Amino acid sequence: MKVGVLALQGDFREHVAASQSCGYEATEVRRVEELESVDSLILPGGESTTIIKLAEHFNLFASIQKKIREGMPVYGSCAGMILLADRIIDGIEGQKSFGGLDVTVRRNAFGRQVDSFESDLTFNGTLLHAVFIRAPWVEEIGADVEVLSTAAEHPVAVRQGNLLATSFHPELTADLAVHRYFFEEICTGR
Ligand code: GLN
Repeated sequence: MKVGVLALQGDFREHVAASQSCGYEATEVRRVEELESVDSLILPGGESTTIIKLAEHFNLFASIQKKIREGMPVYGSCAGMILLADRIIDGIEGQKSFGGLDVTVRRNAFGRQVDSFESDLTFNGTLLHAVFIRAPWVEEIGADVEVLSTAAEHPVAVRQGNLLATSFHPELTADLAVHRYFFEEICTGR
């Protein structure tokens, strides 16, 4: 399986490194041809408004949306969670997303004083040290969405079919549990 990491802005290099540490071939995706060559996609942390603008500029927006709808496994961390969400609260005016994940996210949800913090939480039953940087949380979930982690009484890791999203950044820590979950539980057999 070849992993693609959307490399328009944000911490894509860390996701490439985390994927390689899990034993997978990983490549940066900036063009439609590169998207066509991968079996799964990671949307990194960064700035969701910038990533969407660049995706439109590089003609990737519709292609990524189509891949999501067709069932490509996609994992988004932080800004990547916002990019996968069907509905965004506190976005910029008219903020678009690729969508596909039946959730409402609140951008920069944890507030100004604590807009960056670290916390131990449970991800799918195992303990994990999580880094949050101006992170969103999930405010509402659709019936098909599974909650894998909670912080401040809000879901911060969710899965719906082929899609996985976390408010936090496992690519910035040595713990590869979230990436392993994505590869082993969602990408398996592809
Ligand atoms: N607040 C950023 C956004 O709205 C996300 C922050 C992050 O990815 N660390 O895109």
